[in-house]
Amino acid sequence: MSKGSHKDATRLVEVGRKREWTSAPGAKGHVVNPPVWRASTHLYEDSADLAAGRPNDDGHFYYGRRGGPTQWALADALTQLEPGADGTELFPSGVAAIAGTLLALLRPGDELLVTDNAYEPTHHIALQMLDQFGITARPFDPLDPDSLSAMIGEHTRAVMLESPGSLTMEVCDVPALAAIARERGVLSVIDNTWATPLGFPALEHGCDVAVMSLTKHVGGHSDVMMGSASAAKPLIGRIRRQAQLMGQVVSPDDAALALRGLRTMGVRLERSTRTALTLADWLSTRPEVSAVLCPMLPGASGHDMWRRDYTGGCGLFSFVLADGCDKAARARLLDALTLFGIGFSWGGYESLAIPFDPAPVHKLRAWPPGIDVGSGLGVRLAIGLEDADDLIGDLARGFEAMETA
Ligand SMILES: *Cc1c(COP(=O)(O)O)cnc(C)c1O
Repeated sequence: MSKGSHKDATRLVEVGRKREWTSAPGAKGHVVNPPVWRASTHLYEDSADLAAGRPNDDGHFYYGRRGGPTQWALADALTQLEPGADGTELFPSGVAAIAGTLLALLRPGDELLVTDNAYEPTHHIALQMLDQFGITARPFDPLDPDSLSAMIGEHTRAVMLESPGSLTMEVCDVPALAAIARERGVLSVIDNTWATPLGFPALEHGCDVAVMSLTKHVGGHSDVMMGSASAAKPLIGRIRRQAQLMGQVVSPDDAALALRGLRTMGVRLERSTRTALTLADWLSTRPEVSAVLCPMLPGASGHDMWRRDYTGGCGLFSFVLADGCDKAARARLLDALTLFGIGFSWGGYESLAIPFDPAPVHKLRAWPPGIDVGSGLGVRLAIGLEDADDLIGDLARGFEAMETA
């Protein structure tokens, strides 16, 4: 399915607003947003109607676990924004979407290859949880496509990608990795939470399944947890069936919040990307900082690959503190910040900072190429919608506090 003739900004306004979801049956006129339809039970017309059953697709009342118009509207909106997708399955969190997708694709005896720079819970799913089902997993170096090719064996059934990588932000050659997988009959799943299809239409770039944590950019306000998996047929059917078997369902209230967030995602991403670039540029001039891990920044590691494949970014990037800065100094920096909250997650309207220790992030390669900052300590920033100068002032205060033990 193509994106249609309109540009992304327009499509974010149009998608998921079919008349059947925004109007009362038989009434004239309709409302702007799909209302919150709360329902476990959908009533049938009569026993013949019950006996006739319902197709197992969105848009057909059956029972609350298969959703209603609010959830269908969100799923349809996400499908419409992902070129190449025939459907989207919603999950109660991003982690549930990753686990649910992998369990749909893999069987006992299969092997999963997982990118070394994956989100930590993804590593835990791959390297710990799947083991209980007789599925093995090994990490691969996402910056070395040849090594992926060499690792694919008779039992390899899927590869799990993520770009940029969590915390250290390496951009990998997704089209090349996905092409290697496809050539060998291996399915590729990408965690596309960072870029969203607005910045990186993953299926168009050769991936088979695009997973997102909707908790981040789509929700956008730090008040809802949700995940999604989008794919073409017949794969989306397998993911859907597995999700149904596991009883996965999202509430209509949460779906309405995610739909509301989706409408402004484009302008929020544009703004936070611009502010993040300003801050990344400023941080790269600071003596307290030894490396800025931000592929959107010209000259930074991964920038050329990002320029080639991505049409947008977001406010999430990291930096590494100069050698000699210890954990106590980093804590003074974080504790002095007033605009940056200390907390997990990202993609909200408010800025966040979180410390990370680079050493245990990767198993195969310590740093992206061109970066070697030894034992330097990391800080990840999630840039929200505040003014860039105010955020710079906050960080400058933090650096001052760092120096004064
Ligand atoms: C947050 C996150 C997830 C998990 O999403 P939840 O909705 O928090 O479960 C998955 N992948 C990435 C890259 C994330 O940042």
